[in-house]
Amino acid sequence: MNNKCVFCGNIHFSKKKVQYLYRNNGDFIIINDVPAVVCDYCGEQYFEGRDIENIENLYQEFKIDKNKIIRKLEIPVEEYSALAY
Ligand SMILES: [Zn+2]
Repeated sequence: MNNKCVFCGNIHFSKKKVQYLYRNNGDFIIINDVPAVVCDYCGEQYFEGRDIENIENLYQEFKIDKNKIIRKLEIPVEEYSALAY
């Protein structure tokens, strides 16, 4: 990341811990409290490469051993076209 938000050009950021949604081929993992630098204006989140690597490794571990998953959410999934109002 440079010192400028690539989306809005803002130069002011805050360090925060955020919820990260990891996606891979239709699989999702939600990881809470991931350190991020967040644009104060548009909210774009920037992550360290090693943190993303850790999350990728976690995903690979879960693929090998589903018993390592300690908490799961059940999430409703719907097609927008089914919402005929
Ligand atoms: Zn921004």
